Amino acid sequence: MVETESRRDIRKLKAEELKEFFVQHGEKAFRAQQVYEWLWNKSAKSFDQMTNLSVSLRDMLKTHFVINHIKVDHMQRSSDGTIKNAVTLHDGMVVESVLIPAEKRITACVSSQVGCSLACKFCATARLKRQRNLSPDEIYDQVVAIKEQSELFYNRPLTNIVFMGMGEPLLNYANVMSAIEKITSQKGLNMASKRITVSTVGLAKMIIKMADDGVKFNLAVSLHAALDKTRSSIMPINDTNSLAELGESLKYWYHKTKRKVTYEYVVWKGINDNEEHARALLKFAQIIPSKVNLIEYNPIDDGEFQQASEESIRMYMDLLERHGITTRVRKSRGKDIDAACGQLANKS
Ligand code: SAH
Repeated sequence: MVETESRRDIRKLKAEELKEFFVQHGEKAFRAQQVYEWLWNKSAKSFDQMTNLSVSLRDMLKTHFVINHIKVDHMQRSSDGTIKNAVTLHDGMVVESVLIPAEKRITACVSSQVGCSLACKFCATARLKRQRNLSPDEIYDQVVAIKEQSELFYNRPLTNIVFMGMGEPLLNYANVMSAIEKITSQKGLNMASKRITVSTVGLAKMIIKMADDGVKFNLAVSLHAALDKTRSSIMPINDTNSLAELGESLKYWYHKTKRKVTYEYVVWKGINDNEEHARALLKFAQIIPSKVNLIEYNPIDDGEFQQASEESIRMYMDLLERHGITTRVRKSRGKDIDAACGQLANKS
């Protein structure tokens, strides 16, 4: 057999390219279609699973290609039912993904990069630094693994996907789009785009690009502060990507897509827990139709950041709701296994 390095990852090929390969090798074109289905729809992990192909055809494929499937090496289950997977990639790097069960839905929270380059001060993933982007199949495989766990452990289908794991999805735009295309395709997982949410630190240029590309999924923006000075002090990206620019890009997003945006927002003691901040959030949230999720803070370190008092959270809630902005307080899930927002750091 040829050495691994010279064999290509078969899932890098588009359906058309696979067809060309088959024709060039004297095989019928419909075989390519069958292989494509095995690879995506049935998530085959080896060529030997492709039982409707002859053994000689399977052997021929093995000499040219590999299937770089992810491996779920370590699975932890929280007392609240949340499952965290440590996922090993073909080059030995590790990312995490999470299954979050709720009464009416089961959500997969997936990673888009190994580590992250954004350096948000309150996030554990930021400490890993960015190593590399995930490929479309590595993102897709995380969803498949959680879909299987959902059926196995909860006897229910996976209903939602959020790109809220490690990394910034809009800094790996092409691969995230390609994964979503497969997840929503009939030849893939056939899931509805409206069940998918991409969360971003708020990269204005990329939000405009998504709007131009006519994407059909939901957008969430990690806002955390609506005053530039405060936001820059906790999220360095705000220095080069101001709230004014972000607001303009969101106007464009709404104008093109007519889809609401969700803001993720943590209220911290002494950082953004006064009324001036709440009023700034209200003003920002009124730029386009929006919802606000007030996320519980998941401590990651020495206590520089602390969850604000219930009173401050209520103050935010009252102000926003009084002005017609739907606001929810989101309790952490999977905290005991470091699976909650901002805790993904390959510790397990
Ligand atoms: N880079 C993208 C995707 C990550 S989503 C983004 O920024 O949106 C992870 C979410 O958890 C983000 O909203 C992030 O701001 C939030 N988060 C990070 N650290 C957190 C922590 N310690 N407690 C609660 N939420 C946190």
